[in-house]
This record gives sequence, structure tokens and C-alpha cells, in this order.
Amino acid sequence: MHLKGGLHIHTTCSDGELAIREVVSVYERLGFDFIALTDHDFLMRPDCYAGLAGIKTDLIIFTGVERTVFEKGYLHINHICGDREELHIFNHPSELDLPFDKVRDRILKVSQTLPLDAVEITSKGFRCPEYEVASIPFPKIATDDSHTRLGCGRAWIEMDAPRDRDSILRAVKAGDFWNCYIRNKETSPWKSMP
Ligand SMILES: [Zn+2]
Repeated sequence: MHLKGGLHIHTTCSDGELAIREVVSVYERLGFDFIALTDHDFLMRPDCYAGLAGIKTDLIIFTGVERTVFEKGYLHINHICGDREELHIFNHPSELDLPFDKVRDRILKVSQTLPLDAVEITSKGFRCPEYEVASIPFPKIATDDSHTRLGCGRAWIEMDAPRDRDSILRAVKAGDFWNCYIRNKETSPWKSMP
């Protein structure tokens, strides 16, 4: 099946502006098939994702957490859970505000001590092409890291995969997906919505 999804999303469970229910409705309207809720570990309200149980939707919803890790400075790594599979993504390297070589070294260093499956090559949904290079030996993934309604749907992935959690995560690990972006910074996906 052709699937469209977002794997880095914040809600009111940490510092996002939208409640889980609103996030679900926004991404449904944007035509997504799957989303991952990845609120910050240090801000996470206890048991907040339990609220998912009462939400009716056809979206596949992964739960995860954006972990804060210290490796010569703070890094953010998304940990996303499938049924058996797990996915670990090194988030927004451009936000480290370091020269490329230092960022790459940090990615490689952290991958020696922690599981790492992919590297995000966007910052808040904006493409950072300097990280789309072979010397970072991981699948490169686009996400919107949305914290607000307007931040939803700037960047996403698409894939051909069976419509189940573990198949989706396996496709990401295999690099078997496409990165997609809205056309430019001025375009909001909301403009074309009824
Ligand atoms: Zn984030």
C-alpha cells in the first residue's frame, strides 16, 4: 500500500500546542496514514498517551518519546515503538548549531553506544540538504517536528509497505521510503483545504 506518515510530532503532553485529539484530526485531514507522537522526555505529562485509547481514527498511531541524550552537549533522539520493532532517529542535526564535521562525529559517536536507525534531515519541517550525504551512513528522514497547527504537514515520508506498524518501521530502517516537502516556506498545506 502507498502510505504517508509523520514520525516526529509534539502534543500538549509536552510542549506542543495541540491536544492528541486535535493532532489526530489535523493529520487525518492532511491525508496521513500514520503518525508518531514523540513528546519530550523531560516535559512528558505522566500517562498522557493513555488518552489515545478513547480516540476513534483510522490513522496508525505510534507512541514514542523524544529523548534528551548528553554526548558533548545535548542531543535529541526519537524512540518510536511498533509492536515488535523499534525505531531510533537522531533528530534535527542542524539545530546543534555546529560545523558539519562535528555533527557527523557526534552522530557516529552516539551510534556506538545507543541504537540508531535513521537521521532526521529537516528542522521543523524545513529541508537541510547538507545532511543528505553518504558520509552519514543512515537512512535520512524528513519530518515536520510539529509543535503547532501551522507546523503540521510541512514535511513527511511516503512508502509502499503493508499497512501495519512493524512493516512501516522496517521500511524506514531499510531506507525504503521517500522524503516529501511542501513546495516552499510560504505555502501552507491549509490553504488548499476545504
Ligand atoms: Zn521534537
